[in-house]
Amino acid sequence: MKAVRFIRTGRPAEIVDIPRPTPGPGQVVLKIAGAGVCHSDLHILDEDLGLKGPFVLGHENAGWIQALGQGVEGWKEGDPVAVYGPWGCGRCRTCQSSAENYCDNHASLGTMGGGLGADGGMAEYMLVPSARQLVALGGLDPVRAAPLSDAALTPYHAIKQALPLLTPEATVVVIGIGGLGHMAVQLLKALTPATLIAADNDPAKLDHARQLGASHALDTRDGDAAAEAIGKIAGPRGATVVLDFVGAQATVDLGARVVGRNSRLTVVGLGGGVVHYAANRPPYGCQVTVPYWGSRTELMEVISLAQDGHIRTEVETFPLEQALDVYRRLREGKIRGRAVLLP
Ligand code: NAD
Ligand code: ZN
Ligand code: ZN
Repeated sequence: MKAVRFIRTGRPAEIVDIPRPTPGPGQVVLKIAGAGVCHSDLHILDEDLGLKGPFVLGHENAGWIQALGQGVEGWKEGDPVAVYGPWGCGRCRTCQSSAENYCDNHASLGTMGGGLGADGGMAEYMLVPSARQLVALGGLDPVRAAPLSDAALTPYHAIKQALPLLTPEATVVVIGIGGLGHMAVQLLKALTPATLIAADNDPAKLDHARQLGASHALDTRDGDAAAEAIGKIAGPRGATVVLDFVGAQATVDLGARVVGRNSRLTVVGLGGGVVHYAANRPPYGCQVTVPYWGSRTELMEVISLAQDGHIRTEVETFPLEQALDVYRRLREGKIRGRAVLLP
């Protein structure tokens, strides 16, 4: 089968022919409907994140059950499913509580999940090591559903932790309206009454944010002007929550500058920015958090929100063979919403 493979840091991904996987006991093989193209793949290709190749890329996957390994109960061939991406040990207390994204034994696993050390979904078929990593999609289109497993789950987890602060008087700033950010805007609208400010350095992404219902959309190319505009909207209290889906130095600095007291500065993007601390900047009572992905039960919640029409992934689809071109487009900021590869 055709697959998009990571070889090693600094080398472009390669499209190769590899054997189809077969399921061992407790495992499941999926026929992939769609594999989302996350900006993290660019970090993996460019920077040494400690992942050892070769492995098939694609950590945002959905499809149909193709084959069940011995002993797998409760599923049948053809069932449409999403794959829960952060694969933990499955035994520790944290995994047992469904938060495999924070598995106690992550350091000794040798992989962070399919497409992140183990073979992922940018291929015709994908091996899922345990049926517990499957979540039923019901009537959702698996192509549109693939990005729910990361582009929606990651902001959902970050927002859920911030909910107590997101009251009607609150102001929330979302920086980076790409794959994750376009879902964050919708999730915030669906889940909170807070005033929503979208921020990006690309006017096309700001248009997108407005179409998705953000009350304000601010260009961050002039950081001082953006900070001033946020200050005007938020008032003397300052911004209550900043969700940074870029994580570059400029965006982390912007977030630290605009949050008020008793606030939350959440950095999700892996842009390499550093949060500096000096007395009262970020201000007293600010919690700085670095959430990672989300739990299995949170993926169920996200899928339920999509089934009920509260959120909708906006996808641009491409054949698997165009993966390298899609990575180039993502790097150039030319993808609206999420790109999804179709094997
Ligand atoms: P994306 O490329 O789809 O979107 C990035 C957006 O940020 C684009 O709209 C772009 O215009 C904007 N942007 C880029 N630089 C900017 C700047 N300096 N100022 C303002 N806006 C800027 O990326 P994505 O797939 O949504 O991923 C976003 C980030 O989140 C990446 O760094 C990715 O690796 C990371 N990520 C983290 C987790 C986690 O669990 N922590 C999970 C998934 C992705
Ligand atoms: Zn990702
Ligand atoms: Zn574990």
